[in-house]
Amino acid sequence: MAQMIYLDGQLVERDQAKISVYDHGLLYGDGVFEGIRAYNGRVFRLDEHIRRLERSARALMLDIGMTHEELCEATIETCRANDVRDGYIRLVVTRGVGDLGLDPRKCPKPSVIIIAANIQLYPEELYETGLRLITCSTRRNSPASLDPGIKSLNYLNNILAKIECIQADVPEGIMLTNAGMVSECTGDNIFVVTGGRLVTPPVEAGILDGITRAAVIELAEQENILCVEKLFPVAEVYTADEVFLTGTAAELVPVVGVDGRVIGNGKPGPMTKRLLNRFRELTRSEGTPIHV
Ligand code: PMP
Repeated sequence: MAQMIYLDGQLVERDQAKISVYDHGLLYGDGVFEGIRAYNGRVFRLDEHIRRLERSARALMLDIGMTHEELCEATIETCRANDVRDGYIRLVVTRGVGDLGLDPRKCPKPSVIIIAANIQLYPEELYETGLRLITCSTRRNSPASLDPGIKSLNYLNNILAKIECIQADVPEGIMLTNAGMVSECTGDNIFVVTGGRLVTPPVEAGILDGITRAAVIELAEQENILCVEKLFPVAEVYTADEVFLTGTAAELVPVVGVDGRVIGNGKPGPMTKRLLNRFRELTRSEGTPIHV
């Protein structure tokens, strides 16, 4: 069965799903996106993802031209057309086709793309062995230049940091704010565990307001684990008992080393495992049903 892609109101075969070379999403990275997961035939936190997409679009004065309900429905419809049960969904809205100048007013109609695929993202082994990270020298975009809270198609800041990770042969890296405090990773948020409490940088630090991050904060509250949102230097990561990353693709992934230093005892810690288990229970027990 050919994969079906949602493109501007229609489901088309993957080979037919094409975008103009004049699309400002391509020419300028002018657009927004979301990465969403489906678990066991249900889309996890669809409402929150669509709301974040709408917030990002509003920040760019990009009118998606679809209501919240229409976006949710189109996402579910695309999952259904591809018989998705456990999968990853990519929703992209670009400024649309314009001329070669920057002016977004020359782009009368946004392009809306939804890709839904049944894929296994990370090997289970990763959750047992944990990741090693580096601190990247590329600083996270200053919110005064391009707010990292906007999930835009302009991911070059993250890609430059990712290239540093690749050169260092690690899968992820910590990005610092302009002031030198920990912000987040290239595609994940970060938590440290010290003395039984969780610490994570605040959204105001200039990070993406992660949906997984928010779910972990909720779970911590339910479990009576104190979670503090505050700025901290990378030195606090080095001395933490545990470190883990959160993201739609990663879920909660343990970190066992940073910049050549060992975190905790070099193995995924009990708090990380406990919260990962709780998160997995959550993702399998709620969500918008795909197949009715
Ligand atoms: N930070 C960045 C820069 C991201 O791109 C992502 C999403 N991949 C995250 C954090 C995690 O956000 P979420 O939990 O909503 O996927």
